[in-house]
Amino acid sequence: MALREIRIDGDPILRKKSREITEITERIKVMLDDMIETMNEAEGVGLAAPQIGVLRRAVVIDVGQGPLKLINPEILEVEGEVVDVEGCLSVPGRSGTVSRPEKVKIRYLDEDGNEKELESEGLLARAICHEIDHLEGVLYTDKMIEEIIPEEDEEV
Ligand code: ZN
Repeated sequence: MALREIRIDGDPILRKKSREITEITERIKVMLDDMIETMNEAEGVGLAAPQIGVLRRAVVIDVGQGPLKLINPEILEVEGEVVDVEGCLSVPGRSGTVSRPEKVKIRYLDEDGNEKELESEGLLARAICHEIDHLEGVLYTDKMIEEIIPEEDEEV
């Protein structure tokens, strides 16, 4: 595994839409492992492929329940609304409040190409929405309600 460079806000690649992954190659699997290593090193709870300069629909998330690798994640259902604080590894040193669904149900492919569904809530649901936004070229700051003085917020 290897650390990848995290792209910072202002880099045009963060504003582009990522393409679907049609074949889960060895290269994609290596990228997912590198993304987990990079996320852990940066003490983040999530990372999307465009954040390392790859415009493919893949994200990794770890909110403390072990790493998740999501390929082509798609939101199926949302429920409720919660306003909470977010940060982003691509927007260092800042954080702010964003409204997200309380619960999110997604469909995705795992590393072996199996189609899976996942129901999430709380921080996991928030991280999933944040990372899927990255695949559309959207940063949380686009949706930020209020900027807050950073404390020890987790960056996703
Ligand atoms: Zn982010």
